[in-house]
Amino acid sequence: MPHYHGKIDSKLPHVGTTIFTVMSRLAVEHDAINLSQGFPDFDCAPELLELVTKYLGAGLNQYPPMAGVPVLREAIAEKVEALYGASYDPEHEITVIPGATYGIYTAVAAMVRPGDEVILCEPAYDSYAPSVEVNGGTPVYVQLTFPDYAIDWPAMQQAISPRTRMIIINTPNNPTASVFSAEDLRMLDALLAGTNIVVVADEVYEHIVFDGHAHQSVARFPRLAERSFIVSSFGKTYHVTGWKMGYVVAPRELMNEFRKVHQFNVFVANGPIQYALAEYMKNKDAYLALAQFYQRKRDFFLERIKGSRFKPLPSRGTFFQNLRYDAISDERDTDLAVRLTREYGIASIPVSVFYREPPAHRVLRFCFAKSEATLASGAEILRRI
Ligand code: PMP
Ligand code: GLN
Repeated sequence: MPHYHGKIDSKLPHVGTTIFTVMSRLAVEHDAINLSQGFPDFDCAPELLELVTKYLGAGLNQYPPMAGVPVLREAIAEKVEALYGASYDPEHEITVIPGATYGIYTAVAAMVRPGDEVILCEPAYDSYAPSVEVNGGTPVYVQLTFPDYAIDWPAMQQAISPRTRMIIINTPNNPTASVFSAEDLRMLDALLAGTNIVVVADEVYEHIVFDGHAHQSVARFPRLAERSFIVSSFGKTYHVTGWKMGYVVAPRELMNEFRKVHQFNVFVANGPIQYALAEYMKNKDAYLALAQFYQRKRDFFLERIKGSRFKPLPSRGTFFQNLRYDAISDERDTDLAVRLTREYGIASIPVSVFYREPPAHRVLRFCFAKSEATLASGAEILRRI
């Protein structure tokens, strides 16, 4: 086995293996119910599989256009306009990408220079800070309040400096399961007016907002949309996280810069799957019914853990339910998550890993994108702890 003997001056000295890989691996090792990493344990719609099979056999197996196949870009434009009232030109303002992680990274790589600051809300999804740092930027953090996980707008205002290049927002929010209100977006709009700060809006859970509330996409706010890359993921919407497919919409000027990087970063996303997604998107129910589908799962899980010593925090969107465990243990969440996997056979995600320093409150995140049988078995274990 060859070894490198030179000096490595790591660009990401503090980065280890992502918690999702760590906890899923531990779950497999201990044959535990895996409510850690966010992915469904059920399959996607058979119609979608049939469409992929159809297009795999249709002789479309060479490079698709760099920005994505036109029919898919048109379907995305139609959806964004219908849901959020914003019109994006498929030719210049929509790009199909291999997953949202890639879209966020590419937007950062296209816009952030060494010395630039990028504001992140803490807790922050784990890909944001490394994407900023590997491009020479500096993350600047604004704490979400606890237990509401709301944005502290005065703190956000204070975090803005002449070096702020970008703000990354995420609604519905992972790992907190909170959602932004229209007022939040108006505050952001007012705060950024007159600056050159761009926004990356991670909206991968756009179709998973509960209790009758509407998703507040930045696309609904014209002045904000003018400075925003909006990133979405087909993986979350169609139960196909392993396909790594998503899209970015942004005004032409920003998208032009995005595509300069995209063409040399991956060039194109998988072609046959794009044709299949374009056709499948005609079935609007598949995404419009998603909130209800997951709300039922949230409510099923909450019903089944009633009587346990875990205390639920509000889950207003995403497919995550956070639980406090003050009544059970004063261990750190990272220790408890490992112990529960080993000793009780249930895996979760310790929320403190999304902070630079562990916060005082102790919370575990459980994914309910699972069959009722899985959720029932998981809940049964939680009631015994
Ligand atoms: N952002 C957030 C907030 C997520 O939860 C995820 C899902 N894992 C992603 C981005 C990445 O999505 P994708 O799998 O499409 O890269
Ligand atoms: N976003 C998913 C989660 O929060 C995991 C994605 C990944 O494993 N990178 O669980």
